[in-house]
Amino acid sequence: MMPGTSALGQPYPYRRVELVEPDWTRFPGWADVTSEQWGSVQWQRAHCVKNIKQLQALLGAGVAEAFYADLGRDQAERATMSMLIPPQMMNTMVPHLPPSDPGFTDALYADPVRRYMLPVFSDRRTDWPSHPHSTRDSLHEHDMWVAEGLTHRYPTKVLAELLPTCPQYCGHCTRMDLVGNSTPVIDKLKFDLKPVDRIDAMVDYLRRSPGVRDVVVSGGDVANMPWPRLEDFISRVLDVENVRDIRLATKALAGLPQHWLSDPVREGMERVGTLARRRGVSLAIHTHVNHANSVTPLVAQATRAMLDAGVRDVRNQGVLLDGVNADSRQLLDLCFALLDGAQIMPYYFYMCDMIPFSEHWRVSVARAQELQHSIMGYLPGFATPRIVCDVPFVGKRWVHQLHEYDTERGVSYWTKNYRTSIEAADAEALERRYEYYDPIHTLPELGQAWWRRHGADPSAAAHAAARASREAAEAQKEP
Ligand code: SF4
Repeated sequence: MMPGTSALGQPYPYRRVELVEPDWTRFPGWADVTSEQWGSVQWQRAHCVKNIKQLQALLGAGVAEAFYADLGRDQAERATMSMLIPPQMMNTMVPHLPPSDPGFTDALYADPVRRYMLPVFSDRRTDWPSHPHSTRDSLHEHDMWVAEGLTHRYPTKVLAELLPTCPQYCGHCTRMDLVGNSTPVIDKLKFDLKPVDRIDAMVDYLRRSPGVRDVVVSGGDVANMPWPRLEDFISRVLDVENVRDIRLATKALAGLPQHWLSDPVREGMERVGTLARRRGVSLAIHTHVNHANSVTPLVAQATRAMLDAGVRDVRNQGVLLDGVNADSRQLLDLCFALLDGAQIMPYYFYMCDMIPFSEHWRVSVARAQELQHSIMGYLPGFATPRIVCDVPFVGKRWVHQLHEYDTERGVSYWTKNYRTSIEAADAEALERRYEYYDPIHTLPELGQAWWRRHGADPSAAAHAAARASREAAEAQKEP
C-alpha cells in the first residue's frame, strides 16, 4: 500500500477530470452545425430554445410525448420563468446519449441541468408546491431600492440591477419577480424609468454615498447589456472615488461563453480591466454554475479570456438545488471542474430562496449544514465554497451561524449586526430574530401536521411557530 493511503479510501475519491465539449450533432436539429457556427454568439442567440415546438424540432421523434405534456403543464400552471436555453447550455443536458437512444427520455428526466433549466410539472411537490412564507421578492430587494434597481442592503455594498433580462432563464431564479417575460403564473414587475435615467440615478447615488465601496453589477445578466452601454456604466462607476470593488454578474460565462469570447467584448473588457488596475479597483466576474456538466472547454476558454483581459478573479456562486447538486459528490465534482478545469473560484452556494413553487428544489438548513461539513478539507481553503442562507431582511449567513433552530417546525432564527437601508431608524433591528423556513416535506410528521393546521395564515403561523419554539426552549431549561 502506498504511504498515506488507506484500505478504506476517502469518502470522496478525487481524480482530475478533463473537460469535454459534448457533441452537439447528436441532436437531430443540430446535426449539420459546424464548429464555426457553434462558436458564434450570433448563431447561439438566434438558436436558443424558447418553446416546446422548438425543443421537439431539436430533439426529433425520440422523446416521449408524455415529457412534452409534462413540460407544457408546468409552463401553464407552475413556471415562474419562461423558457430560454442557449444551445451551449442545451448541449450539456444528457451529454452522452442521442435522443434516438431508448434511454434518452429517462435520462432527460434525471438530468441535473434539465431539472433546473427545463422544469416539468412532475418535478414539483404536490403536497406543498410553495411554502406558505414564499414570496415573489423573497429577499425584499425592491423594498431596499435607493434608486430604481439599486438595492442597498449591506452597509458597504450595493446591488445594481441594470436590466431585467438574461440570455438564459433558470427555473429557480430568485429575481423571478422582475427578471424575464411574464408567465401564465407570474406577471413580471416592470421598471418605470428609461434605462438611461435609471443608470444616471444609480451613479448619482454612488457619488453621494461615500460609505459604499463595492458594487455588484447584475440584472438579469450583464451579458444582455449591449457592451458599449455596459462599458460606459463600468467606466462611470470607476470614476467614483470610494468604489474599490466591482463585480459583474453573468451566468452567461457558462451558459453562453461565446458572448465573452467575442472580439468586441474581449477588447472592451481589456479597456475597463486596464482602467480598473490603474485605479486600484478590483474588477471581478461572478458566475452561476450549478453542475459539473456545465463546465466545458469553451467555458474555460471564456474564463481565460477574461482573466487575460484584466479581470482580477472569476468566482462561482451556485445555488444548492435538490435533484441537481445537493449531494457532496456533486458539489465537489463541480468545485474541482471549476477550479482545475476553468480557474473559476468556487465561492458560494446559496440555499434556494423561498420563491413560489420552489419546494422541490429547496433543502433544509440542517441538510445544508451536513453538506458544508462533507465538503470541508478536500479543496484548498481559499476555494472551499461557503454554503449560505440568504435570510429575508438579513442577508447572507453561513449555514452554521443560526441563532436558534426549531427542527420540528423547520424554522431557523437568525440575527444580524448591521442595518439595511430601510432600518436606519429601527432601534430594534439588531436585537430582532429573523426567520427562515425549511421545506415542509422535509420535516418530521409532527412538524408537517403543525403546518397543516397553521399554514393557511403565514403571518399567524410565524407568531405561533416563534411562540412554540420559545416554549420548547423554556421547557428544556426546566430541571
Ligand atoms: S441567470 Fe441569474 S438572473 Fe438570470 S434567470 Fe438565471 S438566476 Fe435569474
